[in-house]
Amino acid sequence: MSALKNTADESVSARQRAAVLRAQVRAFHAQEMPEKLKRKSGQHQVLDKADYVQWMQLLHGKGWAIAHWPRDHGGQDWSLLERFAFEDELARLGCPWILPFGVKYVGPVICAYGTTAQQQRFLPRIASSEDFWAQGYSEPGAGSDLAALSTFAQRRGERYIVNGQKVWTTYAQWADWMFCLVRTQREARAQQGISFLLVDMHSPGVTVRPIATMDGYHHVNEVWLQDVDVPLENLVGEEGMGWTYAKFLLKNERTAGAIVGMVWHAVERLWLAADEAGRQAGRLGGRQGERQGDPALMHRIGELQLRAQALEAMAYRGIEAMMAGTDHGAEASLIKLRGTELYQAVAEALIDVLGPAGVAFDVAALHAASAPPLGPDDAGGLIKDHLYNRAATIFGGASEIQRNIVAKTVLGL
Ligand SMILES: Cc1cc2nc3c(=O)[nH]c(=O)nc-3n(C[C@H](O)[C@H](O)[C@H](O)COP(=O)(O)OP(=O)(O)OC[C@H]3O[C@@H](n4cnc5c(N)ncnc54)[C@H](O)[C@@H]3O)c2cc1C
Repeated sequence: MSALKNTADESVSARQRAAVLRAQVRAFHAQEMPEKLKRKSGQHQVLDKADYVQWMQLLHGKGWAIAHWPRDHGGQDWSLLERFAFEDELARLGCPWILPFGVKYVGPVICAYGTTAQQQRFLPRIASSEDFWAQGYSEPGAGSDLAALSTFAQRRGERYIVNGQKVWTTYAQWADWMFCLVRTQREARAQQGISFLLVDMHSPGVTVRPIATMDGYHHVNEVWLQDVDVPLENLVGEEGMGWTYAKFLLKNERTAGAIVGMVWHAVERLWLAADEAGRQAGRLGGRQGERQGDPALMHRIGELQLRAQALEAMAYRGIEAMMAGTDHGAEASLIKLRGTELYQAVAEALIDVLGPAGVAFDVAALHAASAPPLGPDDAGGLIKDHLYNRAATIFGGASEIQRNIVAKTVLGL
């Protein structure tokens, strides 16, 4: 009885802390966020490395970038609910992406499994974004089936010599470091014999080649590793135990709160676009606040909004279950699956409502951060996001894989 009461009390105070945090985030956005960054992200313009580093350093200055880390390593031990509220609120406000590779992915792995020397060397520079990190998991023959990876690290005394190829490596063109899954034993079963290495991207033998995505921008890369010399001190944890650390990291990758906020942000933008379209068609003019757009469109947006409410309710239920230890293990998959598919549906509706402005896509104008020639100021950025986010149902675990997890975990199939 008292254990139950404690859990309930903890959950109430976690909810209160999350509510306070949301208010602080809104105040920060209104009063402290630099205008240029606010405008660029508000209009969905292309952000460069300097923008992202500035953004991450601003968050660090507020104590938020690593607040989910353990207190021993400078964090605040944020609960899942606080993490969710933080990412959700920033996304609702249309803020830039919180780059996860350092603070969210490799940082917690080094906190949990790194040596003291690795913690002292890497953690402060991850927290302050002095080092830019990339994630070297996927390979041409290993994506959903990650354990099929074949990049090989040959041990030679106190060093590894690494050969192989990573692919889809986000922002590797800016990275100083890449955390990498490599095979250190060929004979072992797939998940065994994998190790977790930290690779200095400035090492001889590292080649980064861009892959163009259909939004015309350079997000992802191939990374070729040819006889790259990595000192043994850059091995995290034990040799051959990389799969354990990879799974620990994947858990953090899949507990992203941002997708719910992104959906709400897009729904809000969709209502505005529908109002504007209604005004242009001479449909508005009724009572103040009354929406008199095209009935079919109103119906479409209403359904999307209902789905967003269901997503949010599911996300809260899932997070509270994870915090109480009553989760079934597929909550993060359900949020990712429903969230990314809904986001794509809202973005598609928005592009439809933009009409001709949703067709003209001027990549050069986005890079120059100048307004696109047709439609509202953010039209080009909205198309860019719509095109890029076709990938949201692929990265971080494709939708089919999430469905497999749900089928197995929840439905017992
Ligand atoms: C924009 C973008 C950014 C990325 N950034 C990074 C990054 O920074 N670092 C990194 O390491 N990786 C990154 N990735 C890679 C991403 O994690 C993989 O694309 C993803 O895991 C899918 O792997 P794959 O592309 O090899 O597709 P595959 O695994 O070959 O899948 C192809 C298709 O088959 C389906 N499929 C596969 N297996 C099954 C199954 N068992 N049951 C049912 N269907 C199945 C998939 O769902 C998919 O539809 C990124 C990808 C994209 C698109």
